[in-house]
Amino acid sequence: MTKILRLENIISGYEKGFSLKGINLTIYKSKFYGIIGPNGSGKSTLLKTMTGILKPFSGSIFLDEKDFYSYNQKQRSKKIAYVSQFVENKDIKVIDFILAGRLPHFKSFQLFETGKDREIAHKYMKIFDILHYENRYMYELSGGQQQVVAICSALAQEPEILFLDEPTAHLDLNYQIKILDLLQELNENMGLTIVCILHDLNLAAEYCSDLILLNDGAIFKSGKPEEIITYEILEEVYQTVIVTDINPVSKKPMVLPVSKNALKSSLGVKIDKK
Ligand code: ADP
Ligand code: MG
Repeated sequence: MTKILRLENIISGYEKGFSLKGINLTIYKSKFYGIIGPNGSGKSTLLKTMTGILKPFSGSIFLDEKDFYSYNQKQRSKKIAYVSQFVENKDIKVIDFILAGRLPHFKSFQLFETGKDREIAHKYMKIFDILHYENRYMYELSGGQQQVVAICSALAQEPEILFLDEPTAHLDLNYQIKILDLLQELNENMGLTIVCILHDLNLAAEYCSDLILLNDGAIFKSGKPEEIITYEILEEVYQTVIVTDINPVSKKPMVLPVSKNALKSSLGVKIDKK
């Protein structure tokens, strides 16, 4: 297995505020990682540190076994792409938004995209089935469609690692599945390494090859979904009753919601039987 990104004792965060507590983590090529953990546990902070948006206070990061900060911004952008939680710039045409992903590949003094840049942009638009709104403005699209465009733009960058911060958080189930199915395809067919924050533990278990569970700024545990999505581990981190089962179709672990009422009556049944 090839190491593509490695974090050594990373302390990173915000002045006089939250900080990650010494993260040691290796990202291997062609895997599909899910970062999970409660709100405020440091998922976005970790992702921003791995993408160079946030410079760590201490520790080392290695990209392809070379110091992360020995690469300049353009060199780094050819290797890593980042899709943030929300699309900020909406006053732009879809095609231009996607072509912006090609910028790291422009030659010095090149002002406009080439035919090859357009070809690559179209390739990903075709995969994600959005060729038909090439000339629409971002603000005309739904949140889910905007997210798809943002992913296409990041892919047009042709990175080795794609980082995504909760790409499906505000989308309908059909969009969640559509986006994650396509990411899985890119991961399996093109060997693209994916590191994705997912709020939904079931989606994380279903799609990711490896999970990194954060709690309070530290890695609580990392491993295969079967090793992480257990009620013992999740109850400790999420501080609530967790029921797990196996998805009957995919055989992946899954988490089931249980209401307080159902819990009370189920405990009641147990007490009655005694
Ligand atoms: P998560 O993504 O797991 O919900 P974050 O990494 O966004 O968590 O945040 C971790 C902690 O850092 C939270 O307590 C949050 O309030 C704080 N935080 C996030 N962004 C900033 C910032 N720009 N400045 C100061 N504190 C921040
Ligand atoms: Mg976050």
